[in-house]
Amino acid sequence: MAKKRNIGLVSAVISILVVLGLLGWLFMTIFESEKPQIQLVPLPDFFPEKQEVVLTVTDVKRGIRRVEACVKQADRKITVFEKTFPFEGLLNRKGTHRFEARFPMDPSGLNLGQGQVDLYVSAWDYSRRSGGDGNLAIVEHKMTVDTIPPAIRALSSLNYVNAGGTGLAVYQTSSDATLSGLFVNDMFFPGFPAAEGAEEGMHVCYFCIPLDVKKRPEIYLWAEDRAGNRSRGIYNGHIRQKRFRTDKMDITDRFLEQILPYFGSYLKDVTGREIEKFLKINQGLRRENELTFRDLRKETSPKMLWEGDWLRLKNAASMARFGDRRLYYYNGEKVDEQTHMGVDLASLANSEVQAANNGRVVYAEDLGIYGLTVVLDHGQGLASTYSHLSKISVQKGQEVKKGDIVGTTGQTGLAGGDHLHYGVMVNGLFVNPIEWWDSHWIQDNVIQKLDLLKKRGKATDS
Ligand SMILES: [Zn+2]
Repeated sequence: MAKKRNIGLVSAVISILVVLGLLGWLFMTIFESEKPQIQLVPLPDFFPEKQEVVLTVTDVKRGIRRVEACVKQADRKITVFEKTFPFEGLLNRKGTHRFEARFPMDPSGLNLGQGQVDLYVSAWDYSRRSGGDGNLAIVEHKMTVDTIPPAIRALSSLNYVNAGGTGLAVYQTSSDATLSGLFVNDMFFPGFPAAEGAEEGMHVCYFCIPLDVKKRPEIYLWAEDRAGNRSRGIYNGHIRQKRFRTDKMDITDRFLEQILPYFGSYLKDVTGREIEKFLKINQGLRRENELTFRDLRKETSPKMLWEGDWLRLKNAASMARFGDRRLYYYNGEKVDEQTHMGVDLASLANSEVQAANNGRVVYAEDLGIYGLTVVLDHGQGLASTYSHLSKISVQKGQEVKKGDIVGTTGQTGLAGGDHLHYGVMVNGLFVNPIEWWDSHWIQDNVIQKLDLLKKRGKATDS
């Protein structure tokens, strides 16, 4: 009897526990405390123009009850999105657990003023928590409405630039501009803040015109602000066409024999005739080397480092000019065509090479067809290059003064004899060095424009 009673008691207790467990589970399910998850993409800091926002809300447990997005500015509140979801199925099992919406936000459509705006997204679920309102998740994102593009205008009204040569634009931007410069077709040349003493927003920008320019390129000033607003400014640039020489280069077997061993490591996987190896160097390696030169623009100083006249290799004759169109012939047949992007200067073998102007060494090592090469940065995108050296006397990072010895001439790389290949770069592109050896050209095209900045600076000081 006692045993039977015990069994009855145990099963009653188990039943009660099971019921309590089920009730507990039901309670926990209905009153679950997990908030919906809200994701907003993108979340920019600035709000310059109409932008599509992707809103994703998930609630794995009880499902989504309501989603609301609004923007608040000062005491205005504008609802930009709202949706209520129906309760479906037992415990909302068939309800919405994941929801994605895309809605446009347009600062002018919403009639927002410039300045801070808060984007609020609220999402409630179907839990019975919070007096039946459900779990509430809020995501808040502060943005700055800025729809006004920066102002930019040129300070010089008339500008002549030679094809293959350097141009200097001096211009002023409004203080909100974070990046500005000048475009020549799709090539961008960054501007740099003018020297101290100039009015706010004054910039200098060196640029260049391709030497093979056929029709007038599209040239305009350009500025962007922190919000990404962009504007263009007029730049009156007149291009002077230049004639460049054509030079016939005969490639002999003797020259190939002399030159190819230097490029042994570059050619180690190249099979074929000697002339094919030469073409690989003259085309493929040349292009690689140009990219190395081009990349050095990133290391330029924002300040002008140079001053006065530029030095030229002492007692040297010009053997080849900038812009020479070189036609390469092998056994009477034209095999290649390249443009010479510097000036070849020949003096005595192993002549000392001086820094053309004050600057900082940004490259001092072997560089393919250019052999041992030194590149000096003169600030604001200007650089000078010294190639085919037999010896380098400076180290990367070193500051040099005009006239300091950077190395000695030689014939490393693709060179038929001892000479200096001298180049001038603007933002990583080669320009005609002749202009920079001409003090009149510097006076008329650079110094006079830099003086415009100083005058403007003084005008506001007084
Ligand atoms: Zn050369």
